[in-house]
Amino acid sequence: MSSLQILDVSKQYGQTEILKKINIDIDDGEFLVLVGPSGCGKSTLLSMIAGLDTVSSGDIRIGAQRVNDLHPSKRDIAMVFQSYALYPNMSVEQNISFGMEMRGVPKDERAKAVKEVARMLQMESLLSRRPGQLSGGQRQRVAMGRALVRKPKIFLFDEPLSNLDAKLRVDMRTEIKKLHQRLGATIVYVTHDQIEAMTLATRIAVMKGGELQQLGTPAEVYNTPNTIFVATFIGSPSMNLVPSRLERDGDAGGLALLVSGVDGAAPLRVALPPQSAAVQAYAGRELIAGLRPEAIGNGNLVKSASTREVRAVVEVTEPTGPDTLTLLRLAGHEVTARLAADADYRAGQEAEFTIDLAKLVLFDRDSERRIC
Ligand code: ADP
Repeated sequence: MSSLQILDVSKQYGQTEILKKINIDIDDGEFLVLVGPSGCGKSTLLSMIAGLDTVSSGDIRIGAQRVNDLHPSKRDIAMVFQSYALYPNMSVEQNISFGMEMRGVPKDERAKAVKEVARMLQMESLLSRRPGQLSGGQRQRVAMGRALVRKPKIFLFDEPLSNLDAKLRVDMRTEIKKLHQRLGATIVYVTHDQIEAMTLATRIAVMKGGELQQLGTPAEVYNTPNTIFVATFIGSPSMNLVPSRLERDGDAGGLALLVSGVDGAAPLRVALPPQSAAVQAYAGRELIAGLRPEAIGNGNLVKSASTREVRAVVEVTEPTGPDTLTLLRLAGHEVTARLAADADYRAGQEAEFTIDLAKLVLFDRDSERRIC
């Protein structure tokens, strides 16, 4: 296994800049997930790491070695594609051992490696089948087996679960996570699915339009998103965003958030818990307040020094089983709350709810960046 460094890497196709000065330092044994909407440059970056595409400027290092000009076959990387890319006329066993055969690995060693990988992926009984006789999930396993058997320095996964149905995708996700925990492998994994990113990654790189928006642990990216884009891309339902104004509250350096009422609703004013100097500097200015749905609750939110009681009007309730997603009008603004499963409101009812300001995230209105 090995570390991987992406240093100031840019990519142009003709005049079009596809990736702009990307910097990501991946430790040995990390599971890094590249996530972002379609077209943001994830696959291009992965292809450059694999050596299937050239780097326009910047460096890629595997361990201590600069690999920009190294042939893909010399990089000691294994790649698992969305399409699996299995040989249809070969058995599972042959598919897994073909690469080793090409590299001149002796027969008994190949057989031993195939057996070990087949046991790890629980597909010993499938070895004599051809890909056409396998389900989607089983084919995905063979593709992973073929990568695993090489014991490469780095694994690259390009949307490996997108062709599977929802249930299988969740199962395979767990399989991949278990595999990473067992092997301690260095993995770079591309997906457009933010839930896959949150559940698998040790760190997430969120990309948009060829730029890295944030690099952090799932908790960092979720709780302290750098930008409004990250705040809305990660998490489902999305973070609630409400235009607000920050005001002085009392003489002791306190602050309050003022939300103007819309559609005839009364405005809302809440006193904030102590804030950083950077937030203090926004006193008297307009900004965007962000609150995750689980930071708006009813009986399910424990009251503390950072919670406040607010009144809101219920618009729609959607029981999901473990909780009830509820669309509320807060000072007339539409927000989603994650309420207790037994939440029982009728549409149009006004009631008291709890908001937790410890989870409040404030963004600059113009730059859309988080105010730290
Ligand atoms: P993602 O994997 O995030 O969906 P890609 O890396 O596939 O994004 O593509 C990033 C951008 O680069 C897209 O706008 C795509 O149209 C463009 N692109 C990809 N390959 C080429 C190419 N060979 N020539 C020109 N543009 C390309």
